[in-house]
Amino acid sequence: MPMTSNSARAAPDQATAGGDDTWMRLALEQATAALGHEDVPVGCVVVDERGTVIGRGRNRREESADPTAHAELVAMRQAAAALGRWRLDGCTVVVTLEPCAMCAGAIAQARAARLVYGADDPKAGAVASLWNLVGDPRLPHRVQVRRGVLAEESAELLRAFFRQRRGRR
Ligand code: ZN
Repeated sequence: MPMTSNSARAAPDQATAGGDDTWMRLALEQATAALGHEDVPVGCVVVDERGTVIGRGRNRREESADPTAHAELVAMRQAAAALGRWRLDGCTVVVTLEPCAMCAGAIAQARAARLVYGADDPKAGAVASLWNLVGDPRLPHRVQVRRGVLAEESAELLRAFFRQRRGRR
């Protein structure tokens, strides 16, 4: 059996454990923290198969002057460092906004079991909106996806940020 097939199927009890809302609240806290350095408020946490948060990240593109410092990559690097391996088998990536192509690609590369996200991103989303990079049957690893968790809170945070930025110009 190929090594990738196990991680593609997350245990159903993970999805129904009631943890997704709790983890999304932590991701929203990270998103709010991004506002402190004028970064677009997107936050992410990575949770292992036991439900322990092993990575937290917020968008730090402005803060770090790094085009790849999206919340998901920051959180996944921390999670991989905590595990001491690049594979995030059994892990759930919880992010406030639909991942872009870079992050969706990284989530699949990391072999994450599940992706939970809040608001859709019609301009750049690479999970449902523009592409589906984590569920393409041509790719060896597929990620279980849950959309729309606390989506309104995530979207409102983003709207407020862009309203305020327009107001300042
Ligand atoms: Zn991204």
